[in-house]
Amino acid sequence: MNVLSHAHGDHLYGDAPGDVVCSGLTARLANVRRDGERIEAGSHPAVELYPAGHIAGSRATLVDAGDARVLYTGDISTRDRFYLDGFEPPSADVLVIETTYGKPAYTFPPQATVERELVDWLDDTDGPVVLFGYALGRAQKLQLLVDRSSRDRLFVSDAIAALNEPIAAATGVEFGAERWDREAELGANDALVLPTQLNKLAWVESLVESTDATTVGVSGWAVEDAFKYRGGYDVTFPLSDHCDFEELLSVVERVDPERVHTQHGFADEFARHLTRRGYDATTLKRNQTSISDF
Ligand SMILES: [Zn+2]
Repeated sequence: MNVLSHAHGDHLYGDAPGDVVCSGLTARLANVRRDGERIEAGSHPAVELYPAGHIAGSRATLVDAGDARVLYTGDISTRDRFYLDGFEPPSADVLVIETTYGKPAYTFPPQATVERELVDWLDDTDGPVVLFGYALGRAQKLQLLVDRSSRDRLFVSDAIAALNEPIAAATGVEFGAERWDREAELGANDALVLPTQLNKLAWVESLVESTDATTVGVSGWAVEDAFKYRGGYDVTFPLSDHCDFEELLSVVERVDPERVHTQHGFADEFARHLTRRGYDATTLKRNQTSISDF
């Protein structure tokens, strides 16, 4: 049995495994991202999927392992935002939880505050802006925020436009962005949303220079200054598709498990916090990938 929580690169398979337990939207997005062999969304009688609130199509997995119910969160966010409902955790005996931001320093401002500050900033800033975020997930939310602003035109890269289509079809949300053509002109009141990994490409740097555009980095990591300097951004906003530290704690409380395994990001730190709170918590070992290992 293969389970695919969502279609982010770090969670995708090497070789397409054919039938996988995932949402239909995750299968469509994975097929957009990967050429070649396609995957089909399947199901398994022992597996229940729960909307994970991370990106479109993302699911947490509750596995009935006979003697224990095992909840595998994948990436999660408990915040209702845009076209996503926040993750509502079911109770389980064993919890395997992502801990990307499993440190108290990573506490995000309220969602509405970050959204309002970004839209206000788009309204008040002179000249074109180039916003960077993950092509799947962040980029769609950035488009919706630009839509709310007084910016004239909104452009996205081809990769983002290709991912917009299945998300728009599944959620009914209109993105209304034009595909960026490198011959086009970026006007003073335009916005361009690009995948983060294009940040340092020569054509992007020369576009930013020639139009005197302001660059924007958007990520949960933006709660720390290092994110701004590492990315060379002019401005950053802490908009995240993950739980922050407090939200992770609240997920654990609601699941009320007998055993917790942490993985990704600050896994050791978060396990220590849980241990201090009386939980039986350990970091998931790197080679521990099969449900039977739990
Ligand atoms: Zn992810």
